[in-house]
Amino acid sequence: MSQLDVIVIGLGGAGSSAVAHLASGGAKVLGLEQFPAGHALGSSHGKTRIYRTSYSEGPEYVPLVQRAQVLWNELQRSTSVPIIRKTGGLFLGSPASPLIAGALRSAERWSLQHERLSAADVRERYPQFRVQDQDVAVWDAEAGAVFPENCMAAYAAQATAAGAELHYGEPVVSWAASEGAVDVRTRAGEYRARSLVVTSGSWTPSLFPDLALPLRIERQLVAWFSPSDRTSVRPDRMPVFLWDLGGDREKYGLPDFGDGVKIGSWGGTVIPRPEAADRTVHDSEARTAEEFVREHFVGVDPHPRSWTSCLYTMAPDHHFLLGRHPRFDQVVLVSACSGHGYKFTSVLGEIAARLAHGEDPGFDLAPFDPMRFSKSAGKTPPN
Ligand SMILES: Cc1cc2nc3c(=O)[nH]c(=O)nc-3n(C[C@H](O)[C@H](O)[C@H](O)COP(=O)(O)OP(=O)(O)OC[C@H]3O[C@@H](n4cnc5c(N)ncnc54)[C@H](O)[C@@H]3O)c2cc1C
Repeated sequence: MSQLDVIVIGLGGAGSSAVAHLASGGAKVLGLEQFPAGHALGSSHGKTRIYRTSYSEGPEYVPLVQRAQVLWNELQRSTSVPIIRKTGGLFLGSPASPLIAGALRSAERWSLQHERLSAADVRERYPQFRVQDQDVAVWDAEAGAVFPENCMAAYAAQATAAGAELHYGEPVVSWAASEGAVDVRTRAGEYRARSLVVTSGSWTPSLFPDLALPLRIERQLVAWFSPSDRTSVRPDRMPVFLWDLGGDREKYGLPDFGDGVKIGSWGGTVIPRPEAADRTVHDSEARTAEEFVREHFVGVDPHPRSWTSCLYTMAPDHHFLLGRHPRFDQVVLVSACSGHGYKFTSVLGEIAARLAHGEDPGFDLAPFDPMRFSKSAGKTPPN
């Protein structure tokens, strides 16, 4: 390729969006992905992801998720495959639950359409959920599902149609920044561009060894369950949900989009590196899932019908890492991490494109500063 403007490392959720936004804006872009397109070894496979607006993780996410939703709807208009579907969202827990308090804080701060529900309200409106008398809920009218495999394929197609080159099965071995340029070495060749965007998910620590990013990789499991009553779990009847069960136990799930009711999270095992993920499901994990479904749902067969494993990349404060490299302005790091990033990847690609061009990102990124952990520990970034 002739002189490149931007190289993007990683073509998962955030990377596929970044190449689309960059190429559509006229940049000459190369995307490099270590695995084949549509692989199931990172964080963005598994058919569906929840999006929600009454964001319990913090009101600072709301403008981001609202812009993300606009971009998902735009992508939906460009293709006939499902990209986004609104179902509404139900957040369940005790009145003291951080999930409930956080959702209410965001909803009230941004005047989002929401409702507070009692256990009796939930039983009447959503009899699929077997709630306890002391449970309460928040209803998020704007929540729903996005379909990651379709989103990534649509963004990749948009990028190539706008002239981007996407190389799958080409792992990046190293990168080096110099005055006004970045050199990237892969197993197949060497490339030079003006800027670099790194959206490498669970592999991010290995691409920035000198930054000592305190990211923790977790193997997570999700399972699909057959409905015994198909009508009650249809997306027009059943909302996406998050359920705080107390004691740091939280489950989430989505209605039946054709593969059964999807419920996570199981597993949660910390692993030293992505390649160490155990992809088998153990009997004890299957039993825990069965017990949970039996106790908490009506009209769902508790025996899991299928499973997948997936990777979380956890920051210590459970927020994202998003911003410029501490020493090289032309290097942008986007880690849609901490297990809740997919819904944002449309807007993260747009932000990455602006940062790569040296523009204002359009959002306050201070809470997501990639170097916030070393700053708070009083350390200076390495030279
Ligand atoms: C089970 C599960 C359920 C989830 N549920 C939700 C949900 O409901 N809602 C939500 O919003 N979020 C959810 N998340 C989180 C969300 O899916 C992730 O935050 C998001 O997918 C991360 O996207 P990413 O682009 O950072 O990583 P990925 O999509 O994993 O992309 C990183 C890519 O970089 C590539 N790469 C890495 N290193 C190199 C290299 N050296 N050379 C070339 N390529 C490289 C990888 O192969 C990979 O394809 C869930 C995550 C999991 C695991």
